[in-house]
Amino acid sequence: MLDTTLVASPGELLRILTHEIYHFVWLRLGNPVRASYERLLASEIERGARGELGWSSELRKRRLTPFDRQARTRRWREYVCESFCDTASWLFGGTGRHAEFTLARSWRLRRRAWFRHAEALKRISV
Ligand SMILES: [Zn+2]
Repeated sequence: MLDTTLVASPGELLRILTHEIYHFVWLRLGNPVRASYERLLASEIERGARGELGWSSELRKRRLTPFDRQARTRRWREYVCESFCDTASWLFGGTGRHAEFTLARSWRLRRRAWFRHAEALKRISV
């Protein structure tokens, strides 16, 4: 179901659709690649990175406790998935700037590099 305000805003629609499409990509990535992305996020948090690349992941990130990360709770795993989809929509969703892009540039560059080097991503046809 698409909100009429989204239809009136093609950029926002593309950003949200990209996020949703990458949920399917996440399911097909396989555990080693998902674990690699999870390690990337864990290292960001350990180094004090705040913010995210979409509200869906930012909301979940704010609710995380150190225990969630260490025990890989459902809350942590949902955050990792939403972060992946938000990062993909930031990269491929066609929006240059957005109020929801709150992750600092240095971390964004690491995310971009991860997507470039994730070999499995290249083998998945979306
Ligand atoms: Zn999502």
